[in-house]
Amino acid sequence: MLEKSQQLLQRASQSMPGGVNSPVRAFTSVGGTPPFIERAEGVYLYDADGNRYIDYVLTWGPAIIGHAHPEVVEACQAAMARGSSFGAPTELEIELAETMIARVPGLDVVRMVNSGTEACMSAIRLARGATGRDKFIKFAGCYHGHSDSFLIAAGSGALTLGTPNSPGVTEGTARDTLVAQFNDLASVETLLDGFPDQVAAIILEPICGNTGCIPPDPGFLQGLRALCDKHGTVLIIDEVMTGFRVGYGGAAARFGVTADLYTFGKVVGGGFPLAAYGGREDLMRHIAPDGPVYQAGTLSGNPIAVTAGLKTLQLLTPEVYEQLEATSERLGTGMQAIIDKHGYPMTQTRAGAMFGVFFTDKPVHTHQDVLGCDLERFNAFFHGMLKRGVYLAPSQFEAGFLSTHHTDAIIDETLEHAEAVLATIFAE
Ligand SMILES: *Cc1c(COP(=O)(O)O)cnc(C)c1O
Repeated sequence: MLEKSQQLLQRASQSMPGGVNSPVRAFTSVGGTPPFIERAEGVYLYDADGNRYIDYVLTWGPAIIGHAHPEVVEACQAAMARGSSFGAPTELEIELAETMIARVPGLDVVRMVNSGTEACMSAIRLARGATGRDKFIKFAGCYHGHSDSFLIAAGSGALTLGTPNSPGVTEGTARDTLVAQFNDLASVETLLDGFPDQVAAIILEPICGNTGCIPPDPGFLQGLRALCDKHGTVLIIDEVMTGFRVGYGGAAARFGVTADLYTFGKVVGGGFPLAAYGGREDLMRHIAPDGPVYQAGTLSGNPIAVTAGLKTLQLLTPEVYEQLEATSERLGTGMQAIIDKHGYPMTQTRAGAMFGVFFTDKPVHTHQDVLGCDLERFNAFFHGMLKRGVYLAPSQFEAGFLSTHHTDAIIDETLEHAEAVLATIFAE
């Protein structure tokens, strides 16, 4: 079934670490062979062995209007023919910036970069540069890319400094990253009070999507906003995953909070390496060349990537988000019905076109809750679904994604597969 992919993995492993260019693709946590993908169209992925999959990963979020959307393909081909990079400003970049600004609350000024990692590390640099403070707070389980200062685990006590969770990250870097618990305002307050006038920023995923899919508890985001105002701390909402995915204006608009700075990526690049950060005008004017905080990029605002992003956003009308919400509700309700019918110890979550399926019967509010999941059962579920042609994220700690191509029929087909696979797993 995956013979060709197996051969490709063996060959790839000789020239690339794990045979991949980003670790999760190697299926390390679920085991087995990752299908090598040949092409994708609409809701389907096609691998090198000729298998077809319903895709719930969607290139980790970007393909919200389906793979290879004909209008995006056409616009990018035309842009290619005009030249693929100039290293000089273009009118297209203004159009994308203006389109983003029109949708996101409190987004006054935007700077485009090439990856979510770059967007988040630049937003932190800006917050530090503007406040003159060194430390920032992140949440356990939230991911903001692989820049050194984010690869930090919580210390052993509430007020202990972070520790590196990758070799190569220095103790010195770790000292300036403080780690709080998602959906726990008290853990944030403890840090802000313990390090008075030292915390430049709080950065978070408004829906924690890098440890499954954990929506914010009511009042959590509003509470962070109030704490930031009280302490003169910059609130950075990382919308790399949620931006233009969970609503027309992203998660901030959905939950009625306004950040000082935002980071974007994934959907905004329409499947190309494009990301951005932006926010309050007075903060953004600190960025070079308007101000002294340095940040640059040879390929930033690349015309092909900007074309894909702009076309994608134009296709994402308010009506499309209503459709995505209905799709998400159908999947969530269907999944809950299966769980209830059989009394499975499982929990499902959703927020717009993002969802989570957890192998625990407890509600999921924090990273700690996800750590309590039955990972063996998740892995069996993942492989059972893959065999039936449903491509889920290869880890319990990742969210699922929906696109406009996930029709009612596709959702119902998926639910039938899920019920059958779960029956075998829980029979054992
Ligand atoms: C994916 C992601 C990033 C990192 O983006 P890359 O483009 O992979 O560097 C940062 N923050 C969040 C919330 C993400 O989901």
